[in-house]
Amino acid sequence: MIITKGGELMKQYKTGIYLRLSKDDGNSESSGIESQRILLREYAEEHGFEIVKEYCDDGYSGTGFDRPAFKKMLSDAESGKIDLILVKDLSRLGRDYIRTGSYIEEYFPQHDIRFIAVNDSYDTENAEMSELAPFKNVINEMYARDISRKIRSALYAKMRSGKFVGNFPPYGYKKESGKLYPDNDEAADTVKRIFEIAAKGVTADKIAEQLNLSGILSPLDHRCKIQGRPLPGIKWTGGAVRKIVRNPVYCGTLVQGKTRKTSFRSRTSKSVPPEQRFVCKNCHQPIVSENTFSLANRLISIDRNSQKKSPLGGFVRCGECGGKITFPKGFAVCRNGCLDGSAITEEDILCQVDKAVNGNFREMTLAERVQKVGEIVVSQKGIEVKALIDKFL
Ligand SMILES: [Zn+2]
Repeated sequence: MIITKGGELMKQYKTGIYLRLSKDDGNSESSGIESQRILLREYAEEHGFEIVKEYCDDGYSGTGFDRPAFKKMLSDAESGKIDLILVKDLSRLGRDYIRTGSYIEEYFPQHDIRFIAVNDSYDTENAEMSELAPFKNVINEMYARDISRKIRSALYAKMRSGKFVGNFPPYGYKKESGKLYPDNDEAADTVKRIFEIAAKGVTADKIAEQLNLSGILSPLDHRCKIQGRPLPGIKWTGGAVRKIVRNPVYCGTLVQGKTRKTSFRSRTSKSVPPEQRFVCKNCHQPIVSENTFSLANRLISIDRNSQKKSPLGGFVRCGECGGKITFPKGFAVCRNGCLDGSAITEEDILCQVDKAVNGNFREMTLAERVQKVGEIVVSQKGIEVKALIDKFL
């Protein structure tokens, strides 16, 4: 539409204002959503732009473009609902200079959209100013990189000092000013119970069954109850039990930094090798002793199917390749073929194990076996029994 104002011909723009704020923008008052809104409304009024719509991404980082209001604004621009976009500065649009630049230099002109970044005096209708935009975009990206690094190093410092940085404390614990304390409700008791039963040799699936029969809430339901949200009705599973038994947090060791973002721009994470994680021993009050923890872990991990076939099942590995050893026809066979199946018998190994533990391995319960023997290594050269007697007794 063309209207006349003061004798001049002027295009009447359909203006959309775009507001964005996230923690990577720092805490300055002037960057707040409300102050962006006031600034843009005043600017629109001064210049006679009619605001038809406001788009607001509160809590969305400028390093990504997967923001709901931003996407809505582009689709409105494509369908012609708006033809002028106002932002406070270029960094509101984004902090990734290549993609921000491509919106400003390609996308907006292609779709006949005028774009103004008020505080950067940037206007696609004003060619001279446009030349500075690429530099401004590079600076915006450097700023995002720097803030992201600062947030990360503050987080690492906390992890290093043994502060719990997660949003939710592990099941059975509560968080008070960055430290974990055993919860006084049923969760900590349930954790204790799980470890006690697991240390007797009961499988994770059986433990889950028992917990469900006793009507104990699963970790997920328990968290919802604490937060006063409706319970999703998730039951205990073998997996949930194993996850608890394997978590060293319950014997007082806090392990953090297990994953890391692939880049400051990305939302995907990759796993961090165990030796690079932040490990804090005796970090908080344990719920179970270290012995119970390691016994329960040994028992929950041992291969039950192999145990059904031989008392040695799950204990023996190959000295050449580390592979699993089975005993078809009473002879030790490596799954990778290192042992030819005629050198060492199951009896040979049992005989040596009995000597090492000074007892009858065959007649022991699984819990007793696990407490006595760590691992048994066999190779063409012989049999090596690593007994755990000292560790547990
Ligand atoms: Zn082998």
